[in-house]
Amino acid sequence: MQKKEPAFPSPTTDSASSAVRLAGFQFPTDTPSWRDWKWQIANRLTRLEQLEEAIRLTPSEREGIRLSGGRLSMGITPYYASLIDPLDPDCPIRRQAIPSAEEFTNSPYGMVDPLAEDSHSPVPGLVHRYPDRALLLISSHCAMYCRYCTRRRMVGEHGRAIPPQRLDEALDYLRSHGTIRDIIISGGDPLMLDDDVLEYVISSLRAIPHIEIIRIGTRMPVTLPYRITDDLCAMLRKYHPLYMSLHFTHPRDITPDVAEACGKLADAGIPLGSQTVLLKGINDSTAIIRELMHGLLKIRVRPYYLYQCDQVIGTGHFQTPVATGIRIMQELRGHTSGYAIPTFVIDAPGGGGKIPLNPDYVVASEDGRLILRNFEDRLFEYRESSHDFMLDNE
Ligand SMILES: *Cc1c(COP(=O)(O)O)cnc(C)c1O
Repeated sequence: MQKKEPAFPSPTTDSASSAVRLAGFQFPTDTPSWRDWKWQIANRLTRLEQLEEAIRLTPSEREGIRLSGGRLSMGITPYYASLIDPLDPDCPIRRQAIPSAEEFTNSPYGMVDPLAEDSHSPVPGLVHRYPDRALLLISSHCAMYCRYCTRRRMVGEHGRAIPPQRLDEALDYLRSHGTIRDIIISGGDPLMLDDDVLEYVISSLRAIPHIEIIRIGTRMPVTLPYRITDDLCAMLRKYHPLYMSLHFTHPRDITPDVAEACGKLADAGIPLGSQTVLLKGINDSTAIIRELMHGLLKIRVRPYYLYQCDQVIGTGHFQTPVATGIRIMQELRGHTSGYAIPTFVIDAPGGGGKIPLNPDYVVASEDGRLILRNFEDRLFEYRESSHDFMLDNE
């Protein structure tokens, strides 16, 4: 993509007023172009100088930005940057978006492709791990590059969209594999593509008789909510049943603009789910996850998965102990709406797929007698009638 100079005034202030400098980015948020998603993409923050004056960067961030050229470069939409607290180095928005030097330290179990997606790709761009569903990667770009990205090996590279020939190969594969009933369109972010390109892909998939449901995995409603236009929704609703998996990390991801975008999608009849990655120092507490899940339900997004952070090179500093996720699940179940509770999973290294992890609620089990623990830690006995029935009939 061509890089343009920002159309908004540089955050640098010649008046040298520290009040202005420390107030963060001075974006003209009231202009029509602010809500134009292409303007947002064209004006992404990609350079150290753009951040330097608006945010009090730490030495680690400065180093991280310098080192992060090439793959998974820094790229932050003005919208998402406007949510950053310029004075707080621990700001959860900031830590998702701004690289740090820790990305370039070695973590002991870091892998390039931890989910072995490349070796489960019968055709480049198509990951076929489960018999009945497949993942189609159609874009290698995103509006904002999450610093904990699992696909950092391929994201942010040149060549924005899947080449037409590769797409044809993927479609041929899908047409000839009748067991695939569920297709997930992902990337990068598929909503980086223009509506007409996206519609070509979706309509081609819809034309395959054995594909029952289509899902789109996107973070656009969070990082660039203005991408969710009326035109986009009008196009998508023609291809039901169509689901969307969104990606929320922190309660601060949910703004009025995000609520509006999710409302439009929900009104278009698209069931919305959210996938959240547990990240050290960003959202690894029950209070934050609970607040996020409650916030999601209010904007009609159903929590879907809570992920253990994949062991990708450069993300060691985000990893939490597995016990943290299990504890959070235990502190949610029974204490809030079942609808607010995602499934905690580890996507198994080596390509084993998603494996759910749960607190253990079965304390003991013997001869058709189970001792169960409830959410208040009280014990209950459950006798299996099927077990007695079996004995009676022996
Ligand atoms: C996550 C994933 C899916 C979908 O899994 P669900 O549990 O059905 O959401 C499919 N294929 C691949 C390769 C995946 O990583």
